[in-house]
Formats: sequence, C-alpha cells, structure tokens
Amino acid sequence: MALIINGPVKSFCYRRLQYLSSKFQMHILLNEMKEMAAQKKVPHRDFYNIRKVDTHIHASSCMNQKHLLRFIKRAMKKYPGEIVHIERGRGQTLKDVFESMNLTALTSAWTLWTCTRINPAEIFIKTDNCVHGKYFGHIVKEVMADLEESKYQNSELRLSIYGRSRDEWDKLAEWAVNHKVYSENVRWLIQVPRLYDVYKIKNTLANFQEMLENIFLPLFEATINPRSHPELHLFLEHVVGFDSVDDESKPEHHIFNQESPLPGNWSDEDNPPYSYYLYYTYANMTVLNHLRRRRGLHTFVLRPHCGEAGPIHHLVSGFMLSENISHGLLLRKAPVLQYLYYLAQVGIAMSPLSNNSLFLSYHRNPLPEYLSRGLMVSLSTDDPLQFHFTKEPLMEEYSIAAQVWKLSSCDMCELARNSVLMSGFSHKVKSYWLGPSYTREGPESNDIRRTNVPDIRVAYRHETLSEELQLITHAVRTDELDGIDEEDTLTMGPLTGQR
Ligand SMILES: [Zn+2]
Repeated sequence: MALIINGPVKSFCYRRLQYLSSKFQMHILLNEMKEMAAQKKVPHRDFYNIRKVDTHIHASSCMNQKHLLRFIKRAMKKYPGEIVHIERGRGQTLKDVFESMNLTALTSAWTLWTCTRINPAEIFIKTDNCVHGKYFGHIVKEVMADLEESKYQNSELRLSIYGRSRDEWDKLAEWAVNHKVYSENVRWLIQVPRLYDVYKIKNTLANFQEMLENIFLPLFEATINPRSHPELHLFLEHVVGFDSVDDESKPEHHIFNQESPLPGNWSDEDNPPYSYYLYYTYANMTVLNHLRRRRGLHTFVLRPHCGEAGPIHHLVSGFMLSENISHGLLLRKAPVLQYLYYLAQVGIAMSPLSNNSLFLSYHRNPLPEYLSRGLMVSLSTDDPLQFHFTKEPLMEEYSIAAQVWKLSSCDMCELARNSVLMSGFSHKVKSYWLGPSYTREGPESNDIRRTNVPDIRVAYRHETLSEELQLITHAVRTDELDGIDEEDTLTMGPLTGQR
C-alpha cells in the first residue's frame, strides 16, 4: 500500500510501462511480417481452430436472450401443468404464472424480465427452486452442447455458494449430478457473493465465522471422507476454484488490519471489507488444499472479481492472494500495481463488452494497452445474457475486439493461448491444447502447430520479461532503490532508460 503511492516508485513504474509499450511497437514494426509468415506456414491451423477458454462467465447468464426465450416457450408447451411457484401456500403452475402475467404469447424476452411480479429468473436460471433447478439444468446442457459442437471453445462457468446454510453444497452437487450438467468443455468456479451483511440483518448468520463454516466445512468433510458427501465428491472433480463477487464500488466501513476482529468475533451488521473476504477465503482454501494434495485430490485456486470498480487496494489483495483476477480495469490508474501484475504475470480475464455497459466505454478500455505491454490478459464474456447476441458469445467478444482495436491474427492467438494458460483445465488437457512443453519458459514452451502463435512473439515476451526482472533484481542488489522511502529525495534517472 505504501509502495503504490510512493512518488518515485510510481514514476519509475510509469516509465517502465511506457517503455514496454514503445518496445512492443518497435517489435511490431520489425517483426509483423515475420509473424504473419510464420502463421501462414502452419497448415490446418487458424484462429477458428485454436483452443480458447472463456475465463470469466456466470452460469446463470451463459445463454443469450433469444436462447432463453425459446427455451421458455418450449418449457410452456412441454410442462404447462408443472408447479413452479408457491404463493401463500398455493402451488402455481407454469401456465398459471404466465397467465397471471398476461403473457400468453411471448414475444420479447426482455419485457418479460422487467415487468413481472414473479421473476422468471427464479424459475429458469436457479439451481435451487420449486423444480429443483430442472429448467436451469436443461438450458445449461444446451449451452454445453453448443460448446461441444464448436469443439474449440471452452467455458469456466460460475455457480453460487452463498454461505447461508450448511447444505448448500450438497444441494448444488445434487443438482449437477441429477441433471448431468457435465462437459469436457466446461469447468466450474464457485462464486461467493459478499453478502454477509444481508444475512446478518436477516438473522441467518450470527457472525462471519458461520459463513466461512457453511462454505468450507462441507468441503473438508467431502475431502476427508468422500462417502459422507458422494455427490459433492463427484461434483468437485470439475470445480477448479473460487471467485468472489459483488459490486466493488459499495462503500466499505472498515479496514482490514491487526485490530480487525477474527471471523468468530465479527458479529457486526456491517459487511467485512473486500480484503477480509479475500484473505479468509484464501486462508481456508489453502488449508483445504494441503489436505487435498495429501489425499491425491486436485487443489483449488482463488480467482476473484477484482479491480472492476471501487478502491485501488482491492488490486493489492488480488495481487497477494489470487491465481488470477477478473476485470483489473483500475490497474490503468495504478502504475506500480500494473507493473507488479506484469512482472508476476498475474492473469487478468477482461470483458470489454461488459465493462462498456457498466463501467467504462469500449474505446477507453485498457485491454490493448495491457496486451501490448505483455500483461497476461485474456478475453472473456462475463454475462452473455446481457451483453451478447449470438450463439458464440466468446467469438463475438474476440471479433469486436479485433475490429475496434485492429488486433492482428497473432494478437488474437496470443490472447487465446493466454486464456488456456490462465484457465483451470488440467495439466493433461493443457499439454494437448498448447503442446507438451507448455510449462517451460520462452519459445520452447510454444507449439505453433497447436497455438498458432509464432515463436518470435513468445520469444519477444520472454526476453522482455527477463530483462525487466533483471533490471529490478539488479536495482535491488545495488541498493539503488534504498533511498526510495525518503520521498522525493531520489530522482529515478539512473534506474530508467538503457542500462
Ligand atoms: Zn462477472
């Protein structure tokens, strides 16, 4: 926190980032033709048939509006008599619900969504409702079938665990197993909404510790004795990690420091701050991971929404605790953090179409800048139900980015390769998609026949990063950063430029 507001450090990092942008421009001037030629030499491989992963997408909105509307119409024909809603102890059928809404002929999906007393989302895109998530299961299966048909597109869908009660995991797992919502093209992430304050006010929870226990105890139990939660054990095979979600711009009334109460003593009605949620998720997940590793089970990673809006310090927590993050928009205003995310190659799943609707216009989105500097960025859709029109939302996302920012075919393939690297798909799958040496450094990690990324691009990224790391370690060794605490006494001259 002190570093990111330190004047000299800020200007140092700002200059390094500017340098990285200019250096990339130079690389393109010199090597664009070579990159293109290398790509053309690879037979049967182009942007369409390289693997790409939608690294950030919510399951409850993974379908587009047209798909959902058609699904609802089909459900009305097929199950008109099914009880889908209980009001004052009386069951209402699907037919009743739609008649009560004066919607005998559905024409537009969105008017339906906005004007009604009973939210159709409750019926169609929830896992835990009157029909036990049957419709949601079916529609997710349809999305999965589309992904499988497209073959090269994959998704990391988010499902919610709220931490309100101990049986949420078993119910969710039961839904997944009963409806066979499983696909080779899909992995799950569990999103935990930061809603402690809401449950506390309703008296559902006594303190924050209870929320943590509701989220983590079933996972410990299923790890220690899989037979105690058979469905959960199966479901967890396809879960790769945790996400933390909510509006980051909500005001925070506390700072997380040594004086903060432990979760068992957090019985305030106020919500704990972002960093508190992230830290305790990380801490519990880490203990769980040790246990899982010892038992030969796969481990989880933390991949929160971070830096979409709100205070910059969310990105500090994200940097320290996360495998990678979603959004990272605010790094554009924080040169020190942006440089750190670059040096550590922390992945950033970016969704410019979603940002465009909610927080930042498309033209001001920092993605092309991050990409040129060599940050580990990927493209993701976030919320196709709201933002996309076609059956292939991820391709739509890439296509718009390519047009607006004039991305080259090499840039696109680099983004796609990043998305696979960042994703939670297994080592075996990644080896198949990217080449068996993908974990090595530099061009030997790359197999252009699979990734369609020219070695020359991978080599450029590797050399550039190595130089920056060397610069930093050299600077530290020669104590040149020593005076940096005494603000403004040090000019950053000797550290920048050519050395
Ligand atoms: Zn999101």
